[in-house]
Amino acid sequence: MKRKQKILLGIIIFVAVISISVMVYIFAFKQHSFDTNISSLENNQEQSEEEKVDDETVTVEEENQPSENIPEVEEPQDANTDTAQENQEVNNKKDSNQNQEESKTEITEDNSNSNSESDVPIESPDETPEKEEEPVEKTQEELNNEKRNQIMSTYNVTIKYGSEIGSYKPRGENPVLMTDSVRINSYLSRIEAALKVYPAGFFKEMKDAGMPVTFYLIERVPSNSFAGLTDKQYYSDIKITLTTTGFFERTLHHEIMHYIDYYLEIKLYPERHYESYQALNPSDFVYGANNNSYVFDSSNPISNYYFINTYAQQHVLEDRASLFEDLMARPYINSDCYSELSPLRKKAKLISEQIDRAYTSVSSSTYKHWERFIK
Ligand SMILES: [Zn+2]
Repeated sequence: MKRKQKILLGIIIFVAVISISVMVYIFAFKQHSFDTNISSLENNQEQSEEEKVDDETVTVEEENQPSENIPEVEEPQDANTDTAQENQEVNNKKDSNQNQEESKTEITEDNSNSNSESDVPIESPDETPEKEEEPVEKTQEELNNEKRNQIMSTYNVTIKYGSEIGSYKPRGENPVLMTDSVRINSYLSRIEAALKVYPAGFFKEMKDAGMPVTFYLIERVPSNSFAGLTDKQYYSDIKITLTTTGFFERTLHHEIMHYIDYYLEIKLYPERHYESYQALNPSDFVYGANNNSYVFDSSNPISNYYFINTYAQQHVLEDRASLFEDLMARPYINSDCYSELSPLRKKAKLISEQIDRAYTSVSSSTYKHWERFIK
């Protein structure tokens, strides 16, 4: 019995040891498993948070990318909350980004709207003409003023018309003003065309020498006593009145020759440039009395063409201005009038030679419109 008892006791002890070992082992395994699970959970939690952030961040790019951790992790409630918070933050950020993108989109749309709005006028047939064809909207008065200013700056002259004539009374007469803007525009064009044939800097030279000119454009004077008038009361303020009662271009060039002569008086002083000119007249001729036998007329021999017309016989100044007017304004040459036999050719050449000497803007190489017929 004693032996059996020992064996039984041994078995019991063995079983007990085995049982204890098993229990210890089981307990130890469970503890290890729990720790592992905890750390795994922690790792998974961290990873999942990062990856979830990444996932959220790259949602657009990797929308269908599977998240390996999500099904496995049974995260503590707190972690979920945190993740949820972070997700919320991420979502908030995302929303914010979306909002920013939306607002950017809105801005872009605003810009595009504003662009499209600014494009609208360009494309709009209603508004485009207003901007591109703005000059069309200008009044005739404004266009006239611009044209006048352009002529004045180009040729260094002053032009007045309409009420700008002010209190000026040419030869004591109250001028009939030119007020029709269309007529004003037309006559400005004719003035411009006439000034264009003078050498560049011709009028500037006289202005710079202290003898500027002002053109007064009027319809007429009540007495019709003149078509044009050059007023040299003040050499520093030459006034040329132009009416529409004669041949406008002839009148203009005629008056300009008076202006030139006043300038020659100063520039060629003490030379008496009228005397050499008068010396070309017949010895028996005296200004102030008409002598038709010395006028350019087919009834007279060419050798008697001393004066371009009878008016030229009134005064040496009118003689020169009338001849110059013809040289400038006659459309086509009259071969007889300016032939080698004609005294008018000699007079014309003398005027041209005097201008050459007085003006630095005129040289041998300058085109001189007044020499067209006497080359
Ligand atoms: Zn005259």
